[in-house]
Amino acid sequence: MALIVQKYGGTSVGDLEKIRAVARRVIRTQDQGNQMVVVLSAMAGRTDGLIQMAHEIAREPDARELDVLMSTGEQVSVALFSMAVGDMGRRARSLLGFQVGIHTNDLYGKAKIQDIETDRIRRELEKGRIVAVAGFQGLDRKGDITTLGRGGSDTTAVALAAALDADVCEIFTDVEGVYTTDPDICPKARKMDRISYEEMLEMASLGAKILEIRSVEFAMKFNVPIHVRSTFTEEKGTMVVPETNDMERVVVSGVAYSKNEARVTVKKVPDRPGIAARIFEPVFESGIVVDMIVQNTSEKGLTDLTFTVPKPDFLKTMKLVSEVAEQISAESVLGDEDIAKVSIIGVGMRTHAGVARRMFQALASENINIMMISTSEIKVSCVIEEKYTELAVRVLHETFGLDKDPRDET
Ligand code: ASP
Ligand code: MG
Repeated sequence: MALIVQKYGGTSVGDLEKIRAVARRVIRTQDQGNQMVVVLSAMAGRTDGLIQMAHEIAREPDARELDVLMSTGEQVSVALFSMAVGDMGRRARSLLGFQVGIHTNDLYGKAKIQDIETDRIRRELEKGRIVAVAGFQGLDRKGDITTLGRGGSDTTAVALAAALDADVCEIFTDVEGVYTTDPDICPKARKMDRISYEEMLEMASLGAKILEIRSVEFAMKFNVPIHVRSTFTEEKGTMVVPETNDMERVVVSGVAYSKNEARVTVKKVPDRPGIAARIFEPVFESGIVVDMIVQNTSEKGLTDLTFTVPKPDFLKTMKLVSEVAEQISAESVLGDEDIAKVSIIGVGMRTHAGVARRMFQALASENINIMMISTSEIKVSCVIEEKYTELAVRVLHETFGLDKDPRDET
């Protein structure tokens, strides 16, 4: 008998009819001889609605109370789901985070799972019940409710799969799997059969919204195979799995983009030890995540320093950096919000040379100017003007042969 953890996202449980359909699907999988643990998200739009109410009633809602509020969305889903299963003549038990024993630290709104108890779930499974666990929530040491951060039900599912040593963690969503790039902007995007954890991690951190980043980190750490698939079809989706040697045959597996970054340039900074520390200190101090950083070689003791931050943090960063710039007598601070980052990703880059060069040539062939470049072992990213994002994605998708199914070549 296999133990399967399934997670259904907000659109999959968007209304009562959909919840019934999920119940039927879970029952069917149980009937194939499996033990079922089902993690549910809040019904589509619920969490947003709750957050909105919080901000209507208080200018700065208390973080602890916000978690109490937000966690109710998932509570509704697991209760309705369990009732639906019961109505179909089968037995299900809903469990909230604290009832399972999902222990987290006390960072409200972005709590980290520290430990999961499995006794209660196992007892329910042994009784032949389907166990429905509320995603996205846990309990801190004081016994207070915490939430794991937006999209956190994915992490609940993967963490449960790890703790229970499940055979697979299936993440059901409204798309059919992981695509080579965003099908909305590139009609030739293809669904991948498999992707490695590392590639998925890069795709996720670059804005592919399919899996929450922390859930992928968790899966990689504990070797949990994830199957990302659609709630609305029976088709197989994409397996997110440990890297295998044959994955390196494909040089580039996917093209990702993000329009969520802004660029900040500090002009003519006196080039001396400690300057970078001075400039970034207040930025880091405010918890702003700096992504790419480029510093030019200096000329007459002055250098330019350019970096990117998430767009929502742009104005704050400009303010913080302008203050430091004045103190250290830099010439000026320039900002640009109309940028995008396009990236190519693939474990095959480790063994193939000239990948970056092909990327630069492809962008040049469309007259797209590259403003910044960064590379890692399995990724090359370029910052370009935002208005060229779609064009860049399409040309890269074609250049690296992603328009064609690799299986056609063999
Ligand atoms: N309901 C939460 C959210 O909307 C968690 C989740 O759906 O994964 O972010
Ligand atoms: Mg999600």
